[in-house]
Amino acid sequence: MDITRFIPPQGDTSRPTIAEINLSTLHENFNAIQKAVGNAMVMPVVKANAYGHGLIAVSQCLVSAGARYLCVALLEEGLALRQAGIEVPILVLRGLSQSQIPFYLEHNLTITATSIEKLTQINQTASELGKKARVHLEIDTGMERSGTHWYNAQPFFEFATQCQCVQVEGVFSHFANADAENLSSAREQLARYLQATQFWLDSPYPRPLFHLANSGGILQLPASHLDAVRPGILLYGVYPSSECQRTIAVQPALSLRSSITYFKVVEAHTPISYGHTWQSDHRIRVVTVPIGYADGYARGLSNRGQVLIRGKRYPIAGRVCMDQLMVNIEWDSAYNGDCVTLIGQDGAEQISVDEIAEWLGTISYEVLTGISMRVPRRYVM
Ligand SMILES: *Cc1c(COP(=O)(O)O)cnc(C)c1O
Repeated sequence: MDITRFIPPQGDTSRPTIAEINLSTLHENFNAIQKAVGNAMVMPVVKANAYGHGLIAVSQCLVSAGARYLCVALLEEGLALRQAGIEVPILVLRGLSQSQIPFYLEHNLTITATSIEKLTQINQTASELGKKARVHLEIDTGMERSGTHWYNAQPFFEFATQCQCVQVEGVFSHFANADAENLSSAREQLARYLQATQFWLDSPYPRPLFHLANSGGILQLPASHLDAVRPGILLYGVYPSSECQRTIAVQPALSLRSSITYFKVVEAHTPISYGHTWQSDHRIRVVTVPIGYADGYARGLSNRGQVLIRGKRYPIAGRVCMDQLMVNIEWDSAYNGDCVTLIGQDGAEQISVDEIAEWLGTISYEVLTGISMRVPRRYVM
């Protein structure tokens, strides 16, 4: 694909700034993960607008790729999927407030129950509405975020089996360190999980779905694959950390592109952008690009980030503004309408999400989920 020039969609009124999502890549990443986990069910995590890739389009793509279950963080995300006609089971990972329960039941969304108190509320509401709640029980094995501690899991499980209007479909926990180089803490969490869930193997009750692994666990701890896995970042072709072993080959599905909208020559010793934080000691050519921190291209990239134009890397000159930024192209040639790649490939050069995260001192997750709703998503195959 020649990406030298930015080709706007026909009849589009928007400025030339888009996040381009390759659905074939997403599909291939799903297949690669499914192959690596064998018989375990892959439950894609599509929270936070599918890590910035677009909730509905990504979910539709994954369902057609064979996903039989989806995970979201929030009730609203589950409702948006139902509204879009997605019919596969959807697990809402975060805990709930009591007033939300009727909506879960009405739209057949799977509830995460984190405590006996929440189970009581769920069971009560389900009973009042004459429904049976589909529930996954969350136990805490070392994340210390939510869920009943693994050492208190027995009475929690016991209570769940006594709730007439609750169907215990799954039991899960979440890793704090599965993407680390040292896996001793993740192994400890796995051991705690297996110890607690032994309850179900020793009991007469039907055995629920056991799931634990996030991307880190999928990549580094095959023993954690159990009945199902919950990949987020890996599905989008990004690895969870730099130390994490890359045991499954995936490709980034998202590119962030814009286009040159202004070109000028700047004389030596002329400061550029807000605060006049940067200037060149010689005459340069500077181009302006219509993307800024309100689009999720962080202001922390001021005088630090780089972009690709005509297959070459150039530095950002001065501060990133709300809607625009300036790029120093020295004395090279570039023209209005040329494509500017902020994330992705152009010729032999590539800027990865990881690289941007490193410039910012953060993680790839924050860079991807930070791409704001203002940036149109364009889907390609
Ligand atoms: C976000 C999330 C995941 C996915 O994590 P990744 O590191 O992106 O794979 C899995 N499980 C739970 C409970 C989560 O909140």
